[in-house]
Amino acid sequence: YNYQLQQSERMQIISELAASIAHEIRNPLQVTRGFLQLLSRNATEANKNYYGMAINELDRAAGIITDYLTFAKPEQETMVLMDVKQELSTMETIIRPMVMLHGGILNVEASEHLKIIGSSAKFKQAFMNMLKNSVESLQEDGTIDVVAYEENSAVVIRISDNGLGMDEDQLAKLGNPYFSTKTKGTGLGLMVTFRIIEAMNGTLVFHSEKGKGTEATIRFPLANQD
Ligand code: ADP
Ligand code: MG
Repeated sequence: YNYQLQQSERMQIISELAASIAHEIRNPLQVTRGFLQLLSRNATEANKNYYGMAINELDRAAGIITDYLTFAKPEQETMVLMDVKQELSTMETIIRPMVMLHGGILNVEASEHLKIIGSSAKFKQAFMNMLKNSVESLQEDGTIDVVAYEENSAVVIRISDNGLGMDEDQLAKLGNPYFSTKTKGTGLGLMVTFRIIEAMNGTLVFHSEKGKGTEATIRFPLANQD
């Protein structure tokens, strides 16, 4: 007989599977990394080099999981009414320690009652990928500002940093898979971010100046609350 899964059911199964796999794979990657580090301590110079390369590759694998599946859950993910201030405050808790490690400052200011519709896990993934880029771009006296407000029935969220910035060439390539200027970059973070924001009917625009900093402006339709 003939049994066909609906496209949405298929996507659901794939994303649940991906979430479980990501979860299960992270630990062995970490353990292997630890042993390689241990072994490399007593290695010859030549072998140290190989251990270093092996560790870099493991980091790349872990980075790919981080870009795609940090907040993914093995159970069903639904579209819900989300409070932007609340979501951003969760992000703040996660990002603040990273900013501090870079000697920078993080300011988050969001209006109350900004509601949008989407998946909370995906929203967090999109914003983590952008915020991580800001953190990674920080130089001395780094500052990251996040603001959220309502404008013309839209929710506007803006992330500004005073980091490395980008030239026109880099800006044009943003969101292309594997475009990265970092030695340990995946070049997948923003591709994932653009997809998520589009799927939530949002838009994402970057402004940047080399040496000055970068501004990402995200707009979502304001959800009807009745
Ligand atoms: P990755 O971070 O792994 O390199 P991304 O897709 O997250 O991949 O970002 C792609 C590239 O875009 C980065 O390598 C960097 O060159 C540039 N970029 C993104 N955000 C910023 C930012 N806030 N400041 C400076 N450069 C950025
Ligand atoms: Mg990134």
